Amino acid sequence: MPGYELFGAAERKEVNDVLETGILMRYGFDGMRNGIWKAKELEAEINKTFGSQYAQLVSSGTAALTTALAALGVGAGDEVIMPSFTFVASFEAVISVGAIPVLVDIDETLTLDPEAVEKAVTEKTKAIMPVHMCGSMARLDELKAICEKHDLILLEDACQAIGGKYKGKYLGTIGHAGTFSFDFVKIITCAEGGVVLTNSEDIYKKADHYSDHGHDHAGKDRGADLHPFLGYNFRISELHAAVGLAQVRRLGEFLEIQKRNHGIIFNTLKNVEGLTFRVIPDADGDTGTHLSFFLPMEDMARQAVTEFVAAGIMGNFYWYDNNWHYIRKWEHLKNGAWLHRFSEEQKKGIMHYANQPFPISDKIISRCISSSISLLWTPEQAQERADKMAAILKNVIAKNNVTA
Ligand SMILES: *Cc1c(COP(=O)(O)O)cnc(C)c1O
Repeated sequence: MPGYELFGAAERKEVNDVLETGILMRYGFDGMRNGIWKAKELEAEINKTFGSQYAQLVSSGTAALTTALAALGVGAGDEVIMPSFTFVASFEAVISVGAIPVLVDIDETLTLDPEAVEKAVTEKTKAIMPVHMCGSMARLDELKAICEKHDLILLEDACQAIGGKYKGKYLGTIGHAGTFSFDFVKIITCAEGGVVLTNSEDIYKKADHYSDHGHDHAGKDRGADLHPFLGYNFRISELHAAVGLAQVRRLGEFLEIQKRNHGIIFNTLKNVEGLTFRVIPDADGDTGTHLSFFLPMEDMARQAVTEFVAAGIMGNFYWYDNNWHYIRKWEHLKNGAWLHRFSEEQKKGIMHYANQPFPISDKIISRCISSSISLLWTPEQAQERADKMAAILKNVIAKNNVTA
């Protein structure tokens, strides 16, 4: 799954270009950098690869979401509808701009259930944030229709789905804005980094300014820049961008291996009676970072995970017990143990929505296992793993059916 598995000569070459000049900052120092502009080059490469018109690199995926929200005009008191199953960064970003994350149920796509979204729309709703979890996509047509009906912003958190497509378009380029993360465990990495994608010049310009203290990057030099839009420092460094440049050029290679290994595991597990699979709105666009499947009951999923570990088969995520990806364990969100001071309105809103029951999501996530797909497996190794997993799953399902 992650790009770090295939880190090598190409990444070192790009980093060395930067080390030769010693100019580690992405802006300025024009005369000293010998024409080396890795962040700019990576932004151009991202636009070329994904067909977006504008790309703004930042220091992380969380910074990308925060920057995108600010550039989209989401702020104090606004509600952002997002799924109960995501990485915590999605709601952190919403909270950091003063807005309120409205968590709603997922369906068997493992992300937003459009019906739950429709029900959650209020007069305060400003945006819908689908999260393309575990390499695959949300029901974007339905979500887009809801956005159009209620005049809402669509912000795609595509941090885990770089290179995935929906009906021919890259995930992250379909909404008003989208984000990727290049942190160390993502499909491509630059150690720490992220990007905001958009086809709107206005949103792009604001993202550009927001991520660099408001600099409009239009002056003769940095000192002569103006600041039409307030900002912070979410800049990426040239060193990080250099790694990302090598990695984005290898994305096609990574996806090919990943999809091959994903196919091997899927073709074996699909024969296990009683096992069902995550619904994928456009199967051709799946990146294959994980194969996510459901057992008939929570107990069976727990047993299977335990037996995988006992058999030395690692990398199977049971999200229901995970501290970082599912609402059940987000006490820090539910109990309002805030580090910062928030307005009473925001705090009340956050705690209200975070403390709703999620019986539908519980029923889905408690039966779900996401099996991560490595770039390092040969086809033979993938097949061997698949066979071992299938045997365990068959056994777990049969055993429980006998006693049921
Ligand atoms: C990783 C991730 C992020 C945040 O990215 P960082 O680069 O780690 O800050 C946001 N959303 C999702 C769904 C992620 O998986």
